[in-house]
Amino acid sequence: MSIRPVRHQTQSEPAIEGAGVRLRRAFGFGKTDEFDPFLLLDDFRNENPVDYFAGFPWHPHRGIETITYVLAGSVAHGDSLGNSGTLGAGDVQWMTAGSGILHQEMPQGDARGRMHGFQLWANLPRSLKMTAPRYQDVPSAEIPEVTEDDGTKVRIICGEFWGKKGPVDGIATDPRYLDVFVPPGVSRTLPVETDRHAFAYVFEGEGSFRDASDPRPVATERIGSDRDADVDLTGNRSLVLFGNGDEVAIRAGDEGIRFLLVSGRPLKEPVAWQGPIVMNTREELAQAYAELRDGSFIRG
Ligand code: MN
Repeated sequence: MSIRPVRHQTQSEPAIEGAGVRLRRAFGFGKTDEFDPFLLLDDFRNENPVDYFAGFPWHPHRGIETITYVLAGSVAHGDSLGNSGTLGAGDVQWMTAGSGILHQEMPQGDARGRMHGFQLWANLPRSLKMTAPRYQDVPSAEIPEVTEDDGTKVRIICGEFWGKKGPVDGIATDPRYLDVFVPPGVSRTLPVETDRHAFAYVFEGEGSFRDASDPRPVATERIGSDRDADVDLTGNRSLVLFGNGDEVAIRAGDEGIRFLLVSGRPLKEPVAWQGPIVMNTREELAQAYAELRDGSFIRG
């Protein structure tokens, strides 16, 4: 077995999306190679309703999948396929935009005004960019949870892990999306196949993703900030990109640590990206935007 080293670690940065929602962006609109097949991760945890209440009114997507995972509050949604509903705490919505969808997502806080959750964008391969759009809504109760003897707890949202399979299926890049909690002081490893790109995003507690026996320094990166991420302890809103190997090592701090662990097989295709539409070429992008203007964007 070989431990994946930490390639770099960054903090998510403030961004404004939709009709003025203040959120944090862990990555996106940039380094697609390192995260391929993933394009973007937004952290929309917020305790202040004024910051999110304008929501994400009607907008298009083509060529990607968006995965929304809600931890507190709720998200009311509707789309051009005729789906509508509300995602609550622990629920997941996996949307395959394919050839095109129009949707809206309107967050609402819980009784304390909290809205917690994440949206991940996964790219579609050339062969499926124009596939029929599809929604998978998964209530919290259908997400399998595995608890190990040491108290490590994993929710399996997509992919197979420790003998269980997540409820989201039929996804082209075979992604694995896990919500992992490791209790205070516990060290352990989690398998991630060698042919995948993998990252972690911390949202509770802190810990170290370094193998205790690895003396190499961790490369940190400055993004819009004059302070380096802490190289020893990785805490709230930290994004960790892993290098090659077949497992990830984690040592939890005094309060334990909870993080998303996401991995997928890279597509290695050219990326042409403008706003909510991601294709392979500039011509395909121009075509998509021309169709939006002339009203032919939504098929069938
Ligand atoms: Mn959207």
